[in-house]
Amino acid sequence: MPTYQAKLKFKREIADGTMAFHFEKPEGLTFEAGQFAGCTLVNPAETDAKGNTRAFSFASAPYENDLILATRMGGTAFKRMLKAMEPGMEIKLNAPHGSFTLHKGISAPAVFLTGGIGVTPVRSIVLQAIHDKLSQRILVFYSNRKPEDTAFLEDLMVSHDEAPDYTFVGTMTDMETSGREWQGETGFINKAMLLKYIADLTLPVYYLVGPPAMVAAMHKMLVEAGVGDGNIRMEEFSGY
Ligand SMILES: Cc1cc2nc3c(=O)[nH]c(=O)nc-3n(C[C@H](O)[C@H](O)[C@H](O)COP(=O)(O)OP(=O)(O)OC[C@H]3O[C@@H](n4cnc5c(N)ncnc54)[C@H](O)[C@@H]3O)c2cc1C
Repeated sequence: MPTYQAKLKFKREIADGTMAFHFEKPEGLTFEAGQFAGCTLVNPAETDAKGNTRAFSFASAPYENDLILATRMGGTAFKRMLKAMEPGMEIKLNAPHGSFTLHKGISAPAVFLTGGIGVTPVRSIVLQAIHDKLSQRILVFYSNRKPEDTAFLEDLMVSHDEAPDYTFVGTMTDMETSGREWQGETGFINKAMLLKYIADLTLPVYYLVGPPAMVAAMHKMLVEAGVGDGNIRMEEFSGY
């Protein structure tokens, strides 16, 4: 896979403890919505046992000008060095990787089950599908503790008028600790919640993405609800 150098334009906090990094799109780099890059820091001042490379999904859609990576800011040297990057500094991207992309050519709805930073490839896929005016039914179930923690919430709350085939179901699991208002669902994503929006759970193709424990819990829930493994696609953010 080719390697590119991408220059940081700016960084911004998109939720409590979560940052987005906007890079100039290197010439020649193309990817499909949902794919990821191996991201390597260039000459970082400190390093750690896991090294200077991490996998990050592209949070931006291919049509967007900026290349956006987003991450929970953790305690490793990698995350500290990423956070310290200033505009104009470069990162190495080995890309594109992965096949967590929207199915084509079948009429089954696509149902995304995600939480926390697992939202990155979902943002890319949904925004690209809306931009392309795909007549594909897409539902996104997105779980977080509270709105303050929820990355890209506004980007994903696209109205029915703008995207008639798209349904966004945000759910918060810990609203007691929130200072914001929330009109959407509360509690974990479960079979009962899915059944409020999907008449026959066995029909859609499901896309599960996020930390491994969440992906495993969602997979178990779907299998117990009678969904066949052939209808379940998974992307584990190993490392969390
Ligand atoms: C295909 C794929 C796509 C991915 N896409 C994304 C993405 O878009 N965004 C994203 O954020 N991640 C993504 N990941 C995960 C990413 O690659 C990293 O593994 C993840 O961000 C963790 O980074 P980190 O190792 O620097 O650890 P941190 O985030 O710093 O921490 C990870 C874990 O280690 C613990 N920890 C950290 N520092 C210490 C310490 N000093 N002592 C003890 N424990 C510590 C933390 O508590 C935490 O549980 C993806 C992974 C894959 C495989």
